[in-house]
Amino acid sequence: MSTREHGSYVKFKVDGCRCQPCRDGETRYRANRSRAIAYGTWQPYIDAEPVREHMGVLNEFGIGWMRLADLAGVPRGTVSKLLYGDPKRNMGPSKRLLPKNANAILAVEPTLDNLAGRAFIDGTGTRRRLQALVAAGWPQARIADRIGIQNFNKTIRGDQPVRASTARAAIALYDELWRADPRDHGVRDHVAARTRRIAMEHRWAPVGAWDDDQIDDPAAFPDWTGRCGTPEGYPAHYRLSIPACEPCRAAYRNYRAQLRATAAA
Ligand SMILES: [Zn+2]
Ligand SMILES: [Zn+2]
Repeated sequence: MSTREHGSYVKFKVDGCRCQPCRDGETRYRANRSRAIAYGTWQPYIDAEPVREHMGVLNEFGIGWMRLADLAGVPRGTVSKLLYGDPKRNMGPSKRLLPKNANAILAVEPTLDNLAGRAFIDGTGTRRRLQALVAAGWPQARIADRIGIQNFNKTIRGDQPVRASTARAAIALYDELWRADPRDHGVRDHVAARTRRIAMEHRWAPVGAWDDDQIDDPAAFPDWTGRCGTPEGYPAHYRLSIPACEPCRAAYRNYRAQLRATAAA
């Protein structure tokens, strides 16, 4: 984890922290943005402060003011004046701006596509994609080569944030390979088998255990059996010879406790 303080949208989004202060920070960010957008729909000029606040958040994601101006399609001069004013004319940072410019700036969100390649984001989704490819039999050296990173071991095993460029490369590679059979692409049988065993030893979940809309969510867990987290999950693990996952153990414990309570009543 980074040394960012808790309670901000950036901590929530970049470090994947889900503590209450960070959840509140996320809510504040959304509220500020939608309030500012709503004002802009009926006022001739609007207050620059919430827009500046949004710019501060984007800046923490590595989206500086010039890149922001380009992404938003707003003149660089306008954006620069929001931050620095116009020193030649002795003017401070703009107090107000046109709604159309405000809205264009507010429409830029720190999505993965918008981030500067060097910006760091939570590494959960990247790790899961890389691990799923290993579980499918793609050798780690080959994946590392395709992603083009030095510290592949740390990236696939640790809990560190990753660079946006790495996250984008992992998504592209995953989208390319998730359905392919490595043996059709020059990976020898025994190498693919050994690679799959490595994934099994580490309990790295396969492609089929992830939904696209969950794979980046740090709170989500892999669905190994199609029933994980429900009372049927635990026996399903046995049928499939996959070690039981923690949500299944918990669901099973709950189920047993309920049975005992019913029997005792
Ligand atoms: Zn937190
Ligand atoms: Zn399970």
